[in-house]
Amino acid sequence: MPIKMPDLKVTRSSHPAFSAFPSTRRVRVGNVVVGDGHPVVIAGPCTVESREQTLGIARAVRKAGGTMLRGGAYKPRTSPYSFQGLGPQGLEILAEARAETGLPIVTEVLDPRLVEQVGSVADVLQIGSRSMQNFPLLVEVGRFGKPVLLKRGFGATVEEWIFAAEYVALQGNLDIVFCERGIRTFANGAYDRATLDLAAVEAIRRLTPFPIVVDPSHAAGDAALVPPLSAAALALGVHGLLIEVVLDEGERSRVRCDGEQGVTPDVLRRIVERAEMPNLYRRGFGVLTVEGTSRAGIDG
Ligand code: PEP
Ligand code: MN
Repeated sequence: MPIKMPDLKVTRSSHPAFSAFPSTRRVRVGNVVVGDGHPVVIAGPCTVESREQTLGIARAVRKAGGTMLRGGAYKPRTSPYSFQGLGPQGLEILAEARAETGLPIVTEVLDPRLVEQVGSVADVLQIGSRSMQNFPLLVEVGRFGKPVLLKRGFGATVEEWIFAAEYVALQGNLDIVFCERGIRTFANGAYDRATLDLAAVEAIRRLTPFPIVVDPSHAAGDAALVPPLSAAALALGVHGLLIEVVLDEGERSRVRCDGEQGVTPDVLRRIVERAEMPNLYRRGFGVLTVEGTSRAGIDG
């Protein structure tokens, strides 16, 4: 059933230059452009756990051809007894990783009171799945003005996700990147952590002109599922991937958060190679378009 949305600041109806699917408003992050038909690969640890770990992974991401570095300094943990991240020290480590590798930083802000602090280091402010409807936080990141990676709440509808983006846009910030990271369904647990909802990706692309990336890591919960889910997302013409990385197989059991789903650098390299391949995807019913073969491609 097609979704009907009112005219919003984030719907295509408000962007005459981008009224037709799949044209996309580009979001610039330093030298990186999200939404130009060349998928970006945002990769890094789940959590900044130490300087050595984060710098090691940052170098590996750079070497594998990743375009931005991810990693949480503040972590939204289900249990208040779990490791909550290194906070300000984690931000310093991320800044050092950027200085060394040149990779822009994508990191989560959890608390409206910390938008200034996290935003002083982040190149992209990540709104986590659990925060998608933290409306004061959305207003603050909207006001702050740096690009926002808006993850879908794992129980949120496409409409709710779009209205969350509207909170950011209403503050004058249109540098919004959507991120599908899997939703809760009845099947979860047997073979995955969440259900990667690729139909919602297509719905967002039709309704809004903003880029969308897919996070297969939190959907999968298992490193083995990350490459095939990445390939599926790329086949749909997404503008990027968000991938969690571990330094090596041994690190998997040592990290304090999400070790099972991190891919090793060699697997990341293969995902980057796939992202760099020209991609055929369905532009309209029965119309196939080659995307990614020229910077002035149809997705621009
Ligand atoms: C993350 O990307 O580090 C994260 C916590 O993901 P999510 O908010 O999607 O659970
Ligand atoms: Mn994680």
